[in-house]
Parts: sequence; structure tokens; C-alpha cells
Amino acid sequence: MASENSEPKKCGKCLIEFNGDKAIGCEGKCKRWFHLKHSELNNNDFNVIKTCKGVKWFCETCYSESEVIDNILKALELLNQKVNALECKQEKMLQEKYAADSSALISGEKSKGSKCALIIEAKIAEIS
Ligand SMILES: [Zn+2]
Ligand SMILES: [Zn+2]
Repeated sequence: MASENSEPKKCGKCLIEFNGDKAIGCEGKCKRWFHLKHSELNNNDFNVIKTCKGVKWFCETCYSESEVIDNILKALELLNQKVNALECKQEKMLQEKYAADSSALISGEKSKGSKCALIIEAKIAEIS
């Protein structure tokens, strides 16, 4: 292995020097290296990670952080879907309302606009 020289000498978990022990580097934020025995991986996993370029390993800390980020992204995705659904619904409502208004000819453009804004605000309060 070529990159052996650039590896830091101490394990991120036990802080003991590697001394030629098998070690694995975290691909997360910390970029620390760990003894194989402190990584919760077996020899098989270790070999796969070392030989396959696409396979990354994250230490416990970075893994749980990436889970947090995943959850936030999922929540955002869900919120986005809700907003899209609301916009669809709202467009329909506006169309219906516009049709009703234009046939009745009661309200001017400005009051129509402010009513729409109120509907959007109420809907946003509902989802958050
Ligand atoms: Zn260690
Ligand atoms: Zn890490």
C-alpha cells in the first residue's frame, strides 16, 4: 500500500500508536484513523473497504452525524412535498375563487391578492 506514510500514527479511539497494526481511515468529517479492532469491522469488511474505491467507512461519531443530516434532508424533502401539494391545492382554490369572483364582479384586484396571501399563511401555519 502506497499511502501508508501519510497516515497519522495514533488511533482516534484509544490514542495508541498503530505500530504496523491494521488501521482504517474515517471518510467523514474527522478524518481520523482507527485500529481495525476499534472500528467494529471484521477482516472481511476491512479488505472490501481497502480494495473497493467506492466503499467508504465512517467512524461512530461521523456516522451518527451523517444520520442526523439524512434525517434533516428527509424532513426537508417531506416539507417540500407538502408545500408542492399545497401549492397545487391552492392554485385550484384560486382558480375556483377567481371564477366565482369574476362572475360576481364584487372585489377589486388588490383585495383578492391579500386574501390569497392570508390563505397561504394559514396553510403554512398548518404544516409547521
Ligand atoms: Zn485503537
Ligand atoms: Zn469520523
